[in-house]
Amino acid sequence: MRRIEKLKPDVSARIAAGEVIESPASIVKELIENSLDAGATTIKIALNQGGKSKIVVEDDGVGILFNDLPLAVERFATSKISDVDDLGHIGTFGFRGEALGSIAAVSRLEIRSMAREEAEGGLLICTGGKVELHRRINTFPGTRVQVEDLFFNFPARRKFLKSSQGETRRVSSVVRDYAVAFPDKVFTLMSEDRVIFSTEGNTEERTFLDILDKIWPSHCPIQQGKVDFVPVKITAFWQPLREGTRVNLTVFVNGRRVQDSVVRAAISSFGQAASGLWFVIVEVPPEDLDVNIHPAKAEVRFKNSGEIYKAASKLVEDMLMGSKQMFSIPLRP
Ligand code: ADP
Ligand code: MG
Repeated sequence: MRRIEKLKPDVSARIAAGEVIESPASIVKELIENSLDAGATTIKIALNQGGKSKIVVEDDGVGILFNDLPLAVERFATSKISDVDDLGHIGTFGFRGEALGSIAAVSRLEIRSMAREEAEGGLLICTGGKVELHRRINTFPGTRVQVEDLFFNFPARRKFLKSSQGETRRVSSVVRDYAVAFPDKVFTLMSEDRVIFSTEGNTEERTFLDILDKIWPSHCPIQQGKVDFVPVKITAFWQPLREGTRVNLTVFVNGRRVQDSVVRAAISSFGQAASGLWFVIVEVPPEDLDVNIHPAKAEVRFKNSGEIYKAASKLVEDMLMGSKQMFSIPLRP
């Protein structure tokens, strides 16, 4: 009979990292969220081999204080919350202090940053979770995070990465979703030194549509709808596709890209009629949302999911009616 033993810290660190970080796409999501939390207006993402050999995310946000750099890569170290009460009304994407620590544990990580209030920047290099270098350097205001050799020390995970093309596709989909949800930010995605996607950062209403127009196949017009069931607000974009296609759904809840079963259920309840591409933006008061139920923050729980379901169903119903009317008007008399 084997005795119970506590896992060695480097083994438990890798297991925990695996809950947060499973692919280049999940790293890019965490890094974009950090840049948004830092108040960045410009976010540049660059990949090599779909992020398997290198991911760089660069922003013009507030930066990290030189002395805080080693803390940034420690698990459960965060500047975003400080006590249990804060968990009830989280206004930032991050709060678990796990992303950089997890990324550091399974890659070679390099952070260059210059905080707004400091005259000089800092460089931190970490391999497999160990800090190897921390020194002052000249750099730009903002933060540049570089992740190399993902899962070099975690072969079981590395095996599950897709081809470079497959991983690039997954990262593109994350970046595009954020670009749609945050039309006022400037996003650039590069792969092997080629720009594959960029947005201009525009605050006009139309931008959602402009961006979706670029990324969704264009043979069908995009429908737009809104409901305001105080305090729940839902905005949706829908591109109906040919019958027989499924519902392809992206949901943002209070700015977070999540897997949400409530909106999905509302759309699915309309069956084939609602098939196609959906982009749904839900806004609820922060205290009506529990974001702390999943290590990668990929799921949220609504306090009042019944209300969300009702609001979403109403919205989908209106949009389906609208599209029927639209399609029943002949384009040319
Ligand atoms: P969390 O976002 O949950 O706080 P992370 O591990 O993602 O945890 O980041 C740890 C800390 O490092 C953050 O709380 C923040 O203070 C700092 N940080 C990370 N990325 C950036 C960035 N791009 N700009 C400024 N500060 C950052
Ligand atoms: Mg974070």
